[in-house]
Amino acid sequence: MKYIDIHSHLNLEQLKVDHESVVFRMVENNVSTITIGVDYETSKEAIEIAGKYDFIWAGVGLHPTDNANEDFDIEKYEVLAQHKKVVCIGECGLDYFRVVDEATKEKQKELFKSHIEIALKVGKPLMIHARPSKGSQDAYEDALEILENYKKENNSLSGNFHFFVGDIPIATRVLAINFTMSFDGPITFTSDYDEVIRFIPIESIMSETDSPFAAPAPYRGKTCEPYMVREVVKKIAILKNLTEHEASEVIFTNAKRTFHI
Ligand SMILES: [Zn+2]
Repeated sequence: MKYIDIHSHLNLEQLKVDHESVVFRMVENNVSTITIGVDYETSKEAIEIAGKYDFIWAGVGLHPTDNANEDFDIEKYEVLAQHKKVVCIGECGLDYFRVVDEATKEKQKELFKSHIEIALKVGKPLMIHARPSKGSQDAYEDALEILENYKKENNSLSGNFHFFVGDIPIATRVLAINFTMSFDGPITFTSDYDEVIRFIPIESIMSETDSPFAAPAPYRGKTCEPYMVREVVKKIAILKNLTEHEASEVIFTNAKRTFHI
């Protein structure tokens, strides 16, 4: 495999229904993926799917807002986290996009810290979802404050900020704790991320789709699939003055280093 989509949801309905053709298109395009749980059920499903293919891995965690009905059971997640096909803990983090009150923010922070505890215990990296409220960097600032504190005690803590939409000062703080950032379809149809991608060293960048969401150009409007990650890699290559081949190689190396795959 030449390409890697480090964040997909083959376990969500849109991709699950026809999951064999989704995987077939991945193979045709030399694309591997890490498929990510958003709650306990989808985390278990991510492991099941990953178990069937040697070019698919899994992430387990409870998304900060995707399943408000689930009571987080740290012990149950620890068991999943130890599975050999699980290469990251998440997605987990802070989502302030829909205005949230202080009590909800505190709850999200506690949940995020539980995931950090699991990551440290099993020695696997975090897959972080951080979505700020409109026009701010608030979720990044709070997530980084938590991570910077943990990092002082435990330098081994590692991870990736998925679907990165932060600015250069935030990217600087992410680099300072030696975490990586991954980018998605939107970089192919807006120039909003050009500057921050040019700023981040290629060694700290990875490609993803967040499929079934956020299809890149020229597939906009379609259900997003992991094979479309090639368009994301192409755009990163252009912004970093690399060939597509060079960019895909460095990104794959980054994923191997980050996720021990
Ligand atoms: Zn996701």
